[in-house]
Amino acid sequence: MITPADEEFLRRAIAIAAHAVTLGDAPYGSLLVGPDGAILAEAHNTVRRDDDISAHPELKLARWAARELDPDTAAGTTMYTSCQPCTMCAGGIARSGLGRVVYALATEQLVELNPASGTWPTVPQDGPALFDEARAPIDAFYRQDPVSAG
Ligand SMILES: [Zn+2]
Repeated sequence: MITPADEEFLRRAIAIAAHAVTLGDAPYGSLLVGPDGAILAEAHNTVRRDDDISAHPELKLARWAARELDPDTAAGTTMYTSCQPCTMCAGGIARSGLGRVVYALATEQLVELNPASGTWPTVPQDGPALFDEARAPIDAFYRQDPVSAG
């Protein structure tokens, strides 16, 4: 459920997205709000400026949260973002420990506004293969450090 307080933070995410356009960057913005309601970090899309396909604001903030927040704080932190996270960012968010995501535009709405946003191809993957060879470094690592979740 999206509350009036959520809507205020979403308006901030949309404002970050609008500001990004004035800088020549793509129109996507996000922020993190901690358990006490304070804004912890903000980011916008810098894919063009950084020549980095991973420079989505959601992934940048997920990486920041994983690095800077203790697990309890991360779990109590909400990401507000101007558009629904893409699959790349959703993967990073899942590993970050963040507790919640609130977005403004759904992916389907974004694609309706800009059809090119929905044209990512599915890359074929072949495998599994070479199980006995491929498991050796896995076995070696986790035998030394069984609690790591790399
Ligand atoms: Zn993304």
